[in-house]
Amino acid sequence: MVENNQVQQKSRPPIVVIMGHVDHGKTTLLDYIRKTNIADREAGGITQSIGAYEITHNGKKITFIDTPGHEAFSKMRARGANVADLAILIVSADDGIQPQTKESIEILTQTKTPFIVAINKIDKANADVEKTKNDLMQAGVFLEGCGGNVSWHLISAKQGTGVDELLDLIFLVAEMENLNYDESVNASGIIIEAKMDGRRGITAVAIVKNGILKNGDAIATSTVCGKIKSLENFLGEKTDKLEPSAPALILGFDNLPQTGEEFIAGEISLEQIKKVETMVRPKLEIEKARRDKPALNMIIKADVCGSLEALSEIIRSLNQENVKINILEEAVGEISDGDVKRASHNNSLVIGFNIKSSKAADNLAKALEVKIITSKIIYELVQTIEKEMKDIENPPPLGELEVIALFSQNGKKQLVGGKVISGVMKNRIDVKITRINEKLEVVESKNTEPIPEKSEVVELESKELRLVELGTGKITSLKSRKQEVNQVLSPNECGIIIESSITIAIGDHIIHESPKRTV
Ligand code: GDP
Repeated sequence: MVENNQVQQKSRPPIVVIMGHVDHGKTTLLDYIRKTNIADREAGGITQSIGAYEITHNGKKITFIDTPGHEAFSKMRARGANVADLAILIVSADDGIQPQTKESIEILTQTKTPFIVAINKIDKANADVEKTKNDLMQAGVFLEGCGGNVSWHLISAKQGTGVDELLDLIFLVAEMENLNYDESVNASGIIIEAKMDGRRGITAVAIVKNGILKNGDAIATSTVCGKIKSLENFLGEKTDKLEPSAPALILGFDNLPQTGEEFIAGEISLEQIKKVETMVRPKLEIEKARRDKPALNMIIKADVCGSLEALSEIIRSLNQENVKINILEEAVGEISDGDVKRASHNNSLVIGFNIKSSKAADNLAKALEVKIITSKIIYELVQTIEKEMKDIENPPPLGELEVIALFSQNGKKQLVGGKVISGVMKNRIDVKITRINEKLEVVESKNTEPIPEKSEVVELESKELRLVELGTGKITSLKSRKQEVNQVLSPNECGIIIESSITIAIGDHIIHESPKRTV
């Protein structure tokens, strides 16, 4: 048995991720390595990065994962470290250790990922290598030659200085890791990206870590399954099979797999597929909100799985003390009319990151009054969502009427004349009666009810003038030009009969509030 295993174990290339603070040179280094180590003929074939690429250095292969550098993608970066066999921690010699350097060190330590330090930008006049090394030691990274065993190298990613030696170091560290695979077992690996391509359908990028991945294989993750219809290498070339640690572009999933999920492929039995399927994470997630808390419902969409996860995580982490956020659905792809329909049905917003909405969706959204908010900047989306939350917490009134005449009073029934100063005033609705604070003392004695202690205060433009809520009432009749009507729009005048124990005065504001949204 042992002998058998030994025969089947083959060595595989290292899978490497580059981590570090923004602007420390990750992209520059990845670009330099890509340009100088992929043959011209092949490099010409790369039209777009698929999230990973393979190079040949001194006749041996290395796979690099091209992780996004934005802070919001820390989760994916963390997964990048899990996918990777080893990492390059890049630190700029003119900037030293920064928050994302520390975060990267933490991720590498937690995931026990071996790493090499690249001290970058040594071509710059203000590069301070000694300070950078000291900073690293203080952050718990003990470098070789300074009493530790972490390999390191000085580089200039821009000029290419030291990059060859850095690649040599990768092989040295990888050798100690015994990176092997078994070609006789089912292929397995990790999904690093997935998206819905308008032309090709669902495409997923995966890194093979064990077994041989073959075109035609059945394939499954914990959430989706399928059959590989087309297999491509990182250059976009069709291939029949891919060995570990190759990046693979896979077509044939029947639904979108999630970033960071493991896959298995091969002649897998229905039972095996079922086993992974039982771990399915529910696609439609409806969180139960507390009934007394207003809620902001939303459907979120993004261009790719990685950004969808990042966006969803950021939205969930917003302060929800006063307004609960309910993410009803999250999916990859363009905003469709179906999304708008469901949003209308659930009184929900549609949020899109780095995607457009279809024409049909835009038209339907106008007709159904559904708000679609899209941006290429996560921060902008977050700001808009926060504003929506504030509006829900303190909704602007649906209608506001200023009392301009008092006609008669019969007990609680009062006939008054007024002007709708904003929105729409409706018949047979409950309203709030408010009064400008400077008039309160004068009228207070006339009221049959004392002014509530905890009056809700609505700020007007002037700091001194405030509207103070006196109580509530009900409009039982609404007349425009002597005709009974259902509603009167701003800026028209009307006559109302209002039933309230508050005695209405000229200048009072009668407010029709927006209902608070709940689940
Ligand atoms: P990333 O955010 O970590 O991907 O950083 P980039 O690769 O985008 O680099 C940020 C900036 O630093 C860019 O303007 C690069 O041209 C510059 N840069 C990166 N490496 C070097 C280097 O070795 N020397 C110098 N002088 N500039 C560099």
